[in-house]
Amino acid sequence: MKLAILGPPGAGKGTQASRLSDEFSIPRIATGDMLRMEVNSGTDLGHQAQQYMQKGVLVPDDIIIEMIRKRLSQGDVRDGFILDGFPRSVVQAEALEGMGGIDGVVYLDVSEEEVVQRFLGRRACSQCQAVYHLRTSPPRVRGMCDRCGASIRHRADDREEVVRQRFRTYREKTEPLVRRYGARSLLMEVDGSGTIQEVYDSIKTALASRGFT
Ligand code: AMP
Repeated sequence: MKLAILGPPGAGKGTQASRLSDEFSIPRIATGDMLRMEVNSGTDLGHQAQQYMQKGVLVPDDIIIEMIRKRLSQGDVRDGFILDGFPRSVVQAEALEGMGGIDGVVYLDVSEEEVVQRFLGRRACSQCQAVYHLRTSPPRVRGMCDRCGASIRHRADDREEVVRQRFRTYREKTEPLVRRYGARSLLMEVDGSGTIQEVYDSIKTALASRGFT
C-alpha cells in the first residue's frame, strides 16, 4: 500500500495520514516534519530549508527529492508507506515515478477560507510535531503536548500572510498534480471540510472502493 495524501496547506493531511499510518501499520513520511527536525537540529539542510519555509514557498526540488530517496531506501517501507506533503510539484511527482511510483493518492478538497480559519487556531508540538487546534482539538493541559509533554506553539509559517502565500504556492505548483493523478486513475477525491472523523470515514470508504483494506 503505497499512498500519498494531497491537498492544500491546512487540509488535515497530517492528521489523516497519522491515523492511516496507525491503522494500516505503514510509516507516514512527512517532508514538512522532516524539514522542521533539520531546522530544530541546526543542520546545514535545516538552515537552507528555513529560508524557504518562512516565506511559504517550496524548498528546492533537488533537496526534497534526495531526502525522499534516502527515506524510501529504508527497510520499514517494504510493506508500504503514506507520503504526506510529497510530491508537491510535477518534478517531484516525476522523480517519485522513477522510484517505483505509488498505488493511490488521497486528495483532500478544502476551500482557502476554511483553511485560513483552521490555521489561526492551529498549534503544533515543538518536539514531536503532534498537531492541535485551540477550538476543535485542544491539548488536555493548556500549552502542553498530550503525547510528549513538550510545549506547543503557533508555527511561524501558520501566520495569515504566510498561509496566503502557501496557498498561492499550492495552487501554482501542487494543484496540477490533481489532474495528473486523476488522468492516471490514481486519485481518490474526498471532501475535507467535515470533522476529523467524518473525513477519515470518507477516506476509508474511498480506499475500500479501490481495494485497499
Ligand atoms: P508542511 O508541514 O507539509 O505544510 O510543510 C511546511 C513547509 O515545508 C512548506 O511550506 C515548504 O516550504 C516545505 N516543504 C514541505 N514539503 C515540501 C516538498 N515536498 N517540497 C518542497 N517544499 C516542501
